[in-house]
Amino acid sequence: MFKKILIANRGEIALRIQRACREMGIKAVVVYSEADREAKYVKLADEAVCIGPPPSAQSYLNMPAIISTAEVTDAQAIHPGYGFLSENADFAERVEKSGFVFIGPSPENIRMMGDKVAAKQAMLKSGVPCVPGSDGALGDEPKEILRQARAIGYPVIIKAAGGGGGRGMRVVHTEAALLHAVQTTRSEAGAAFGNPAVYMEKFLENPRHVEIQVLADTQRNAVWLGERDCSMQRRHQKIIEEAPAPGIARRIIERIGDRCAAACKKIGYRGAGTFEFLYQDGEFYFIEMNTRVQVEHPVTEMVTGIDIVQMQIRIAAGEKLPFTQRAVQMRGHAVECRINAEDPYKFTPSPGRITLWHAPGGPGVRVDSHVYTNYVVPPNYDSMIGKIIVHADTREQALARMRSALSETVLEGIATNIPLHRVLMADAKFVEGGTTIHYLESWLAQHRR
Ligand code: ADP
Repeated sequence: MFKKILIANRGEIALRIQRACREMGIKAVVVYSEADREAKYVKLADEAVCIGPPPSAQSYLNMPAIISTAEVTDAQAIHPGYGFLSENADFAERVEKSGFVFIGPSPENIRMMGDKVAAKQAMLKSGVPCVPGSDGALGDEPKEILRQARAIGYPVIIKAAGGGGGRGMRVVHTEAALLHAVQTTRSEAGAAFGNPAVYMEKFLENPRHVEIQVLADTQRNAVWLGERDCSMQRRHQKIIEEAPAPGIARRIIERIGDRCAAACKKIGYRGAGTFEFLYQDGEFYFIEMNTRVQVEHPVTEMVTGIDIVQMQIRIAAGEKLPFTQRAVQMRGHAVECRINAEDPYKFTPSPGRITLWHAPGGPGVRVDSHVYTNYVVPPNYDSMIGKIIVHADTREQALARMRSALSETVLEGIATNIPLHRVLMADAKFVEGGTTIHYLESWLAQHRR
């Protein structure tokens, strides 16, 4: 096992990884930007090194600074967390070439999944069902693009092969709008992702977002750890996640889960990963794979009792998965609310000083957050400042537990979306379960303040 790991991230996930290291008796080195000097995990770390000014491009995305910090601190492995460099194949490659272990999949697998056209092709080959769509990237021939759209049937969605974070997509309802949409998405994709390739998919009108968590070791063992429903989204950003997905028959989930595990073996995947699907009318359609730990991993940890971050570290150290698929049992129900520093209805970011923070507690309540009273949320990064996760025997009890947890949470000084979560946890449709990915946005349109 490693003696020392460098954490190349910030915020709650830096703290989460540090907790895993501490439990495993591994020393943690954190890198931080000048904006994060006062962060809790920086103070708690075994070693902390400032790697640059607040803008991420000069700090958390600064590969040479991160790798040389690993060198001077004698770290053996680098955990990239999520976001930042976590899905950057070049970074993974540079980490390995510099003699460190990258806690994640191989650069080849990251690269393949980062190109959504290549990812879909690999999945189709591995027997994972995908959204019906164009055969690979779209060519230049207008007639052929029109023909493919007709074959798929409108509405279609044009997506950038290199897209991410909900950007680089355009829905097309009529043939008249198709070619222009392809052209615009192409030029946007070229500018934003450095890859102008676009592809086409059937636009599913009322899907849910259901994803499968996997773990695979370097000895070609792979398991799946159940599913998560992340349909409560705004602008493709998830804000509430839960496990299991309400109202989907176990045999349907099991069939797709087994296929994901088989696909991992087939492509030689290692580490933690997530297969994201749209689920509609009893069918799963693969949209993309995330080759890293996800924000919402705790709900899976709560229902399976498996520590995903510790497993990532064990796998990176070359250990074999310590359990088989049979031993993976989902118990009860877990729900996560992402706490964002933003206006609950206008969504404008709200950085600044937290003048009072009381975290909720009690049985089955978990808080993953690096904030504290007097912590200043910097304006430079993502607005997520923590997560409240609850676990109980049933979904009904989990929602009651979340309502209780939210009622005792106090966060003053800045605006957060806690008031929105309080309302949503009591919303009849959400409580019923099984809302689609459009539910939250239409709810927000009706409840505009
Ligand atoms: P990103 O990598 O940018 O997150 P995804 O491919 O995961 O892109 O898609 C993000 C979101 O866009 C999905 O969660 C879904 O809401 C919507 N979406 C993507 N493809 C489709 C589709 N074929 N039909 C309907 N909605 C889609």
